[in-house]
Amino acid sequence: LLTMDVGSFADVPQDLLKEIETLEGLFTTDTEKLKQITEQFEKELTKGLSVEGGSIPMNPTWVMSYPTGYETGTYLALDMGGTNLRVCQITLTEAKSEFDIIQSKYRMPEELKTGEADELWEYIADCLMQFLETHHGDTSKLEKLPLGFTFSYPATQNYVDEGILQRWTKGFDIAGVEGHNVVPMFEAALAARGVPIKLSALINDTTGTLIASAYTDTKMKIGCIFGTGCNAAYMEDCGSIPKLAHLNLPPETPMAINCEWGAFDNEHKVLPRTPYDVTIDKDSPRPGQQAFEKMIAGLYLGEIFRLVMVDLHDNRDTHIFANQDISKLRKAYSLDSSFLSAIEEFVLPSAPDPFENLSETAELFQNKLDIRPSLPELELIRRTAELIGTRAARLSACGVAAISKKKGYETCHVGADGSVFNKYPQFKARGAAALREILDWPEKSDPKEDDPIEILAAEDGSGVGAALIAALTLQRVKDGNM
Ligand code: BGC
Ligand code: MG
Repeated sequence: LLTMDVGSFADVPQDLLKEIETLEGLFTTDTEKLKQITEQFEKELTKGLSVEGGSIPMNPTWVMSYPTGYETGTYLALDMGGTNLRVCQITLTEAKSEFDIIQSKYRMPEELKTGEADELWEYIADCLMQFLETHHGDTSKLEKLPLGFTFSYPATQNYVDEGILQRWTKGFDIAGVEGHNVVPMFEAALAARGVPIKLSALINDTTGTLIASAYTDTKMKIGCIFGTGCNAAYMEDCGSIPKLAHLNLPPETPMAINCEWGAFDNEHKVLPRTPYDVTIDKDSPRPGQQAFEKMIAGLYLGEIFRLVMVDLHDNRDTHIFANQDISKLRKAYSLDSSFLSAIEEFVLPSAPDPFENLSETAELFQNKLDIRPSLPELELIRRTAELIGTRAARLSACGVAAISKKKGYETCHVGADGSVFNKYPQFKARGAAALREILDWPEKSDPKEDDPIEILAAEDGSGVGAALIAALTLQRVKDGNM
């Protein structure tokens, strides 16, 4: 039970105030900094498309048109996410931009992420078989169904049904996959189990998001994921992709590019990294990779917060949580981004009463970590969460601004998905405010007025997006194009 007197909100003592100021200095990104990051980002997007390449992979995906809305047929979609494995069957119907979907979710066992490659593929094949048996009964008479496989990791694709894994991200670490084409491994597991499925396309979640969103809204020009990882895709012209020049495609041919922007600034030129970001990177399975992602994505937000708290306890003059056992707080990755979401949720401006809100944070600390923060410490906790969440949203806006500037989009819609985008309090509003600062939009005269570039909730990318990409691919093959 909560024993503290929440009614007497003490003034925050000087030493804690000083710590808060230090943290503000570390985590705040002003407009000038955001503009500088955006400028560098735009250069890196272009560099990634060049023959020599840069830090952002800018992977061509062989998704070579937007959907018309008139695609038809029945497709399977598989999404290998971090927490779940989702299998869908999507029927694109005759009616424009309409579809039916049935789906099942399977738990993705944590051990698989750092286990053996064979176990991963076998598990996936089993889930697919189970799905078919549930929804089609006897699979032996089933004609092979086309599948769009959403594999949300950086992959080199010389064809739409190829994916040479560049590197694992999001904490995955399975030996023997990096540098290899994952499609034959996946197909071998299907064949061994007699699963009647034909992979049509290997898809990144961002590309799926772009295509699914464009299916229902033709103003959609960028697809983003702000979830466990972060990334974006957009449609480029082949004429602007020097690394594909050897294929002699007509310059106006569209080609969706999976940016893999999580790798932005891996060379540490421009992002304002804190000592906590340096620690996250050093202790991750892939140090030196995904510098941008590690400051923004859901996998890391709670961990950044945890590192700040431990540092303030161990090393700083203030010694927060003095004389308390912080062993639970010492466990790496024990706080996920929903922990920060909760802290921020309690103190939303609309929340009823600041004392009560802080008492909910106190309860959270007590229940989850066996720590009883003082009132001033609660204020520090709140402010730290806000700084980390705000930085993530503001840095994200730099990526969106960079793609928009590169493409000359002055107005468009951006489709976004992922747990951080959908669930983190104020992520959208903070991102929109940052975009306004970066792109120098004037103040709105009416708050209800739309922004020129709006980041909106996307359609289901790894479901309907994957089905659409499978449909577009089969159509292209039928038309005799590559
Ligand atoms: C992956 C991307 C993916 C993003 C969002 C990143 O870690 O490298 O391929 O799009 O996460 O899921
Ligand atoms: Mg996903």
